Amino acid sequence: MARVAFIGLGNMGGGMAANLAKAGHDVRAFDLSEAALAKAEERGCLRAASAAEAVAEAEAVVTMLPAGKHVRDVYETSIIGVAPTSAILMDCSTIDVATAREEIAKAEAKGYRMVDAPVSGGIAAAEGGTLTFMVGGSPEAFAAAQPFLDLMGKAVIHAGGTGAGQAAKICNNMLLGASMIATCETFVLAQKLGLDPQTFFEISSKASGQNWSMTSYCPVPGVGPETPADRDYEGGFAAALMLKDLRLAMEAAQGADAYTPMGAYAEELYTRFAEKLGGAGKDFSGIIKMIDDSWTPPAGSVAPPPPLGAKI
Ligand code: NAD
Repeated sequence: MARVAFIGLGNMGGGMAANLAKAGHDVRAFDLSEAALAKAEERGCLRAASAAEAVAEAEAVVTMLPAGKHVRDVYETSIIGVAPTSAILMDCSTIDVATAREEIAKAEAKGYRMVDAPVSGGIAAAEGGTLTFMVGGSPEAFAAAQPFLDLMGKAVIHAGGTGAGQAAKICNNMLLGASMIATCETFVLAQKLGLDPQTFFEISSKASGQNWSMTSYCPVPGVGPETPADRDYEGGFAAALMLKDLRLAMEAAQGADAYTPMGAYAEELYTRFAEKLGGAGKDFSGIIKMIDDSWTPPAGSVAPPPPLGAKI
């Protein structure tokens, strides 16, 4: 069994680190949060006093941090030049493609193998070890990372070279954000035209409008399989995280000179829902309540709902 350093034991990292420990690895865990560290210890990890201490003798390093600036900071101050160069470095955070490529280049320049390996699947999948990993990096780095990622996921896919994991993740989530909004407004229109939502679901899920947001994650309560819509949009994938991913996609689109009008409009609508109307903590399918005008912004939200059909 290997000595694995795990940095970032939050909602996702906590369960992932516990799965590595459960598989018998010697997991040295670090987080800035005392509560997260204590929980990791309870779940079989060993507490490290710093990120540098965690990685000191590691054979593998996993990071699961909020955003690019945290990844840059942790890699440049506590991992590159501190961990043994034989360690395989895996960043599983969702970050911008440019930072992922820069940090991997810096690690490779010092003799490390490193992959970007963001995940699809939420907290339940992190706990259950059923995440999907999209991995960018050299074939050698992928081969070294796979045995560790296999213990935390149900699918580990080599997306291509450095940064390809992050590229796949944000492209997928841009499509998801735009298709969720399209699905929401379609159900709102169908009901306004007098269609029963269940009947419309049965028709459209077998017709050419069929898509994942409709058939696996229907935003209308009581229609299709059980989804966050049936729990007043609690749990699931928070609108704030969808907005984060849409912003990363837009940043990448600008850098790549790609025209992404639907992604841009999805970003605008999620900004309104999550940041201006207080919907950040709701599941991302809850945006249907902004679209059908039934959303009541919590006290302190900065903007009133726009009139239906208004250009936002
Ligand atoms: P989180 O905020 O719950 O956890 C991040 C952890 O990193 C926190 O415990 C924080 O204390 C720690 N941290 C921050 N800076 C640190 C540092 N310098 N050193 C050590 N620890 C540090 O976030 P999360 O929900 O676990 O998400 C982590 C990543 O996974 C994000 O990039 C997110 O976009 C991505 N992701 C999340 C989900 C989800 O459903 N939550 C799904 C897929 C991907």
